[in-house]
Amino acid sequence: MGKIQELDTVLADQIAAGEVIERPASVVKELVENAIDAHSTRIDIMVEEAGLQEIRIIDNGDGIASDELAIAFRRHATSKIQTRRDLFRVQTMGFRGEALPSIASIADVELVSAQANQAGAMIHLRGGEVLATQAASARPGTDITVRDLFYNTPARLKYLKSPRTELSKITDLVNRLALAEPGIAFSLHHDGKEVFRTVGNGNLQQVLATIYGTKAGQKMLPLAASDPDFKITGLVSLPELTRAGRNYVTLTINQRYIRSFPLTKALIAGYGSKLMVGRYPIAVLNIELDPILVDVNVHPAKREVRLSKEEQLTALITTAVAEVIGQQNLIPDVGSQTQELVAATAPALSEVAEPTAEVTIKRPVVVPHEPVIINTKTDLASPAMQRFDQRYQAPIEEQPAPIPPSQPLQTENVALDLTTATKTGFPQLTYLAQLHGTYLLAQAADGLYIVDQHAAQERINYERYRVEIGQVSRINRIYCNR
Ligand code: ADP
Ligand code: MG
Repeated sequence: MGKIQELDTVLADQIAAGEVIERPASVVKELVENAIDAHSTRIDIMVEEAGLQEIRIIDNGDGIASDELAIAFRRHATSKIQTRRDLFRVQTMGFRGEALPSIASIADVELVSAQANQAGAMIHLRGGEVLATQAASARPGTDITVRDLFYNTPARLKYLKSPRTELSKITDLVNRLALAEPGIAFSLHHDGKEVFRTVGNGNLQQVLATIYGTKAGQKMLPLAASDPDFKITGLVSLPELTRAGRNYVTLTINQRYIRSFPLTKALIAGYGSKLMVGRYPIAVLNIELDPILVDVNVHPAKREVRLSKEEQLTALITTAVAEVIGQQNLIPDVGSQTQELVAATAPALSEVAEPTAEVTIKRPVVVPHEPVIINTKTDLASPAMQRFDQRYQAPIEEQPAPIPPSQPLQTENVALDLTTATKTGFPQLTYLAQLHGTYLLAQAADGLYIVDQHAAQERINYERYRVEIGQVSRINRIYCNR
């Protein structure tokens, strides 16, 4: 007898699930994408125990006809592709017809669905077996509950990370889907608590502010660019608003969230030298193109795509970002207040400085808190560098929250104490020039200093807020006097 046998359906589905469903977030992804494909305008996601206990997704989309419920759970059953030609023109998120059978083969699934003006129905499956189907009263749309994920594939369970990590993957994913679809109202609840919600009014900036904070939302620039093949729209952060990783860049192709190293790199390249080393922007770019130019069928979960004309697209992204960023005044605009501060400082500095002849700063040069001053001397153990290290050891992670403009600045007690500054050994800098509109060059006895203006500005703000909240009564280092 031959040894070759056809796999039974459930086993085949479980094998497919191994590719598509890696973790609870994969279930959320597949189900939410189905809801998006069904033209939902509202999608509510509820997870218990980071999705391992239960994932429930309710949408108000097209629904599934009651006589098609069982078919939807069959392998390769899809309403999204009919012909071979369709495969090269897929606009929808799904098309393989694998998600529902895969999920049902490794969990307990209950789905209730109804189309508008039609009777609803319910189907219950566990481990790929249909346990029940029956008529059910339901509002138009689909309500699907997945329980006991991986109950029959313990090996998969072992690869999961902590519930916290799994939950963060779900949250991150829902965030990205919300950024890709600002016209859909999303909500995410974990163990009964609301994690996140968007209103679905199509305002991308508002979605971004919900996810990354109001301050971030205010520091985004709109971007739009196109050529005969591609149309790009989105938001990119000002160079002063950065994060420590590339993870805050969201790319979508025809509103499908994808990951692409070359496209992310192209976006970052658009900033040129305006980003501090090791810092990355926040951005959302939606790229629209003829589906014929993209092959979404290279990754089982469709996270990565293959693009024709990728080089043309990367060039377009870099140019578009460079243009938007280039049009900006590179000094963070914190209002005329700061301009006044800086303007008022110059004479004050020279007045005090000249008679003592100790400090020869001709223009305000301030000490920022981040990659700050780079002494181009290779000897990092230089006295100036050591002093610098001693004074700025503690890194300041977060900028303090801005003070509402209604609150008057209490800067009277802020004085420039050059004597102290000199005593603590701040190098005597002489301003030389500005480089790339971003860096101030200054010289001191021990070498050339490069001051990052953005970071410097942040430092000024930081010191000012510290004074205002009373942490220091007096600033004893170089500071802009008002
Ligand atoms: P695919 O999305 O690749 O077509 P799925 O297994 O995810 O495959 O879904 C199978 C089919 O079930 C879909 O093609 C769609 O017709 C239907 N379907 C699944 N989820 C929903 C939903 N939330 N609303 C409406 N139809 C759905
Ligand atoms: Mg699908």
